[in-house]
Amino acid sequence: MPTTNEIKHCANCGAEASKRCLGCIDAPEYHDGDATETVYCNPDCQRKNWPTHKPRCLQLKKRIMLSRIGYLMKAAVIAYQSCAFSVNLTAMEMRDGTLWLTFGPFGNPGIAAFPENLTTDENLRETALLNNQCMAALYLGAPLARHLFPAVNPITIRRLDVPIKAVIPYKVTDMEWDPEHTIVQIQLGDEFWILDVTGRQYGFPEFLLPLHTYERTKVSGGVISNEYYKGDYDIYDETGDLVELIDETQTQNQEGRLTAQLKARLHFTDFAETHFNNISAKVFLSGSEEEFRSRVGSFVDKVKTLMTNFISSD
Ligand SMILES: [Zn+2]
Ligand SMILES: [Zn+2]
Repeated sequence: MPTTNEIKHCANCGAEASKRCLGCIDAPEYHDGDATETVYCNPDCQRKNWPTHKPRCLQLKKRIMLSRIGYLMKAAVIAYQSCAFSVNLTAMEMRDGTLWLTFGPFGNPGIAAFPENLTTDENLRETALLNNQCMAALYLGAPLARHLFPAVNPITIRRLDVPIKAVIPYKVTDMEWDPEHTIVQIQLGDEFWILDVTGRQYGFPEFLLPLHTYERTKVSGGVISNEYYKGDYDIYDETGDLVELIDETQTQNQEGRLTAQLKARLHFTDFAETHFNNISAKVFLSGSEEEFRSRVGSFVDKVKTLMTNFISSD
């Protein structure tokens, strides 16, 4: 994203120009400098240049849409977790670069609003909300994935379980060295992107990065090898993690808690399904950044109301 006042030239006639192609504006970079904006001096030049610009514009637009999907998924997971938190967190404290989380015994029904009184620091809040939630977030995101991923026409979607570099100062109590973290790799054309909506638990604010950048900056050892690929991720499965846990559970108390989580998950799924049956993915993901964020804001508000009502009625 250029921040200087450098003079730009029309992609068609070369004259000084400033009207940016709105289709690909502010696209994320895959390689350094590969998402610079395209400008025109007038609509006529833009029209004449379209056959040339089209492939690049469409590829950049896919990146923008993928980034927006990541933004929505992360916002949805955080909103959901803040109202239907499945862990009994009783205290949190930063000490020596480590975030110490204290957990109480599991109560029933096992889900409740996140204890907002424990911190006013947004980053620490997110870290606690997303701690150990990478799998749950994938499954929770299933109805969103189902409706939105087709808009970017991904060639493959793969789950990766990779060892992460432990990060200071967000290292969490008892985090093992190089903890294994579940992320999603999405292939758009010949580009490989990493979607990581729960990376904040390791101090990563970014939810979308090119694979090569993610490898270099987040992964212990710096390379994602074949052994970390878990195959084509079933983006249609919204309950697989909980169903498996319920099958394995030994105690009635645990089964009760997991069943409550499953009901909450399905309640969210129903809502998300209805929401995205009423608005097409392309419409939801398009428009200006401001328009898009306002759509996400309204979605998030609805999720919070929905889940708060659900928890209090249970
Ligand atoms: Zn021109
Ligand atoms: Zn464009």
